[in-house]
Amino acid sequence: MSDCIFCRIAAGQIPADIIYEDADHLAFRDIHPAAPLHAVLIPKRHCATLADMTDAQEHGRLILAAVATARALNIEKTGYRLVANYGADGGQEVMHVHWHILGGRILGWPPG
Ligand code: AMP
Ligand code: ZN
Repeated sequence: MSDCIFCRIAAGQIPADIIYEDADHLAFRDIHPAAPLHAVLIPKRHCATLADMTDAQEHGRLILAAVATARALNIEKTGYRLVANYGADGGQEVMHVHWHILGGRILGWPPG
């Protein structure tokens, strides 16, 4: 989708600091990091929300890519948080499925 910022990053039309990539996924550094290490992981295929992504295998592969991204950030041992914002109350701003992978400091709970 040409008007979707994450599709444009996946297509190489907008520069991004790539952390992890495979055939179906791309992880890049968040432009407004909320932690010392903050990646955004997307499926390259456009899908607006988690609820629109109905293939369980696709969800599973996305989570495996999140673990691979954490490994690429070298936070597998120290720990990290996966966040998927959904909808208006959840704070979803970009309507292309994505997981945030946050680490590099102790993360408070519950989130604000
Ligand atoms: P969300 O609020 O869950 O929709 O998160 C969208 C995230 O995408 C935010 O944390 C933004 O800082 C991040 N973001 C938006 N545009 C870019 C970009 N061009 N490069 C990297 N991260 C971006
Ligand atoms: Zn998109």
